[in-house]
Amino acid sequence: MSRILRASIDRAALRANLAAVRAAAPGCKVMAVVKANAYGHGLVATATTLAGADAFAVARIEEGVLLREAGINLPVVLLEGVFNGAQLAEAAHRDFELVVHDSSQLALLEGWGRGRRFTLWVKVDTGMNRLGFRPEEFPRAFERLCALPVPPREIRLLTHLARADERDCEMTSAQVARLRAILDQLGPHPAFAGPGGRPVVSIGNSAGLLGWPQARGDWVRPGLALYGVSPFPGQVGTDLGLSAAMTLESSVIAVRRVPRGETVGYGGTWRAERDAAIAIVAAGYGDGVPRHLASGAPVLFAAGTGALAGRVSMDMIAVDVTGLSGVRVGDRATLWGRGLPVERIADHAGTIPYELICGVSQRVPLELR
Ligand SMILES: *Cc1c(COP(=O)(O)O)cnc(C)c1O
Repeated sequence: MSRILRASIDRAALRANLAAVRAAAPGCKVMAVVKANAYGHGLVATATTLAGADAFAVARIEEGVLLREAGINLPVVLLEGVFNGAQLAEAAHRDFELVVHDSSQLALLEGWGRGRRFTLWVKVDTGMNRLGFRPEEFPRAFERLCALPVPPREIRLLTHLARADERDCEMTSAQVARLRAILDQLGPHPAFAGPGGRPVVSIGNSAGLLGWPQARGDWVRPGLALYGVSPFPGQVGTDLGLSAAMTLESSVIAVRRVPRGETVGYGGTWRAERDAAIAIVAAGYGDGVPRHLASGAPVLFAAGTGALAGRVSMDMIAVDVTGLSGVRVGDRATLWGRGLPVERIADHAGTIPYELICGVSQRVPLELR
């Protein structure tokens, strides 16, 4: 069966992006973030391709279980930790590493009286105000961790940056300084395994590791960069030496003439200012093409670049290909990816590239290359 619509996943690009991350963060370990179905790229296939990472990170325990069931034995970090006793037992059984960001999770661990020792990543909230212990709460949380009935295998620290994608924003340095202040106050502890008896720390996501050398820590946690996408507004992956791993492509299923003055699509929001050639492409919001994509957004054909004409439908879009010679039924159309950066499409949809790649829907087959 030859597919009309597909997300083609370039495994060589994934591997090259991992190498680029390693080159950008020399000496750091890499926790490859594969949450949300590896940002839409396919969880298991992506993790298998990125087997050269030092660990994987997921948001939900179910994602970690899928990795283990696929035979993946690298460390797996649960970025939100666990939320009940059953999940804690599952995490022990699967040998997951846990983020601990809330006192309810300390209480769960205090009730864990037997069995496996966990590697725990204590999350410090240095300003994001989402998850983690505030600096003033940290000492008490740390005391409780040190008194756990089953001592942790290792205690590590992590924090998350709120504005690392803004290259000249003071907040990143302030967040790093808050973490450093905590580290400076911590004496050596047998649960720490970093050099000099200090804890191993993780700070930078993609933007942190690429834009802020001082904000890397011992472990970096890239997601977006591994998929070849730029976290920085105004730049695309190739500007940063990355290659797009996902190309969303479909086919032209009809080409029609629209006389000057007539409109195209629901709501009649696009009007032909001259006799127009319109290509109908089989991809819509049911596939993850955002309905907020604005008329004029580029769509790439072998014959050149067309412009979205009117509203995105559930299964189709209309593209103005007037002046492009020879766009025919059956021609390939690229929605984003190779040759058409998803960052540009995100700009036309008023969103960020993360949302587009994560939002490719289940009915779109992933094809590994
Ligand atoms: C998702 C996530 C990351 C990865 O972020 P990118 O911007 O995709 O690199 C890193 N750390 C945490 C805690 C996350 O939730």
